[in-house]
Amino acid sequence: MRLILLGPPGAGKGTQARRLAENFNIVQLSTGDMLREAASAGTPAGRKAADVMARGELVSDDIVVAIIAERVDQPDCANGFILDGFPRTVGQAEALDGLLKERGLALDAVIEIKVDDGLLIQRIENRIAEMSARGEPLRADDNPETLKRRLAAYHAQTAPLVDYYRGKGQLASVDGMGSIDEVSAAVMALLPPPVGRQQAGSVG
Ligand code: AMP
Repeated sequence: MRLILLGPPGAGKGTQARRLAENFNIVQLSTGDMLREAASAGTPAGRKAADVMARGELVSDDIVVAIIAERVDQPDCANGFILDGFPRTVGQAEALDGLLKERGLALDAVIEIKVDDGLLIQRIENRIAEMSARGEPLRADDNPETLKRRLAAYHAQTAPLVDYYRGKGQLASVDGMGSIDEVSAAVMALLPPPVGRQQAGSVG
């Protein structure tokens, strides 16, 4: 199973991706997590990406496409993967099409999680308040100012992917305004039932 989750920052892509990864025994590939790891490793490329991320802008297509191209070849992706936060531009989507084709792979579905901007801002503000209350470190880009730029980047650069995948007949959309469980149920209803975990890895 190979899936893409599309949606604005704060739509719940990460949460839903983790659930899907567990249900289908596939890996979650979050370019945001990979870039944050590179940033905290302090490599020159990682530090450059950290500046771009802190501004709420998008890291260049070349960098994220190279990261994903290397990652999908790892053995743990053989059973499938769920892309969370990638692709984010039409250029990335075209590069993904090319790299899947080269490997003889295809996407099973592209799922858009639809949430209004007002709720996204409220969710991120809640996340900041809860993490601060627990004394946890905040993400450099989790603040109202940067969130506005992340939303603007989504509308300008990522939202066109909805039409891109609709045009290819691959898009399915779910209402992301409900609870985590409600959104999970809507996403699962779009997909074939997962093979029981006891059968995972069996032949046939
Ligand atoms: P996320 O964790 O998905 O919200 O991503 C956090 C930040 O990482 C984004 O605001 C971008 O700066 C950067 N980023 C993550 N994925 C991508 C991508 N596919 N293309 C460009 N930038 C990305």
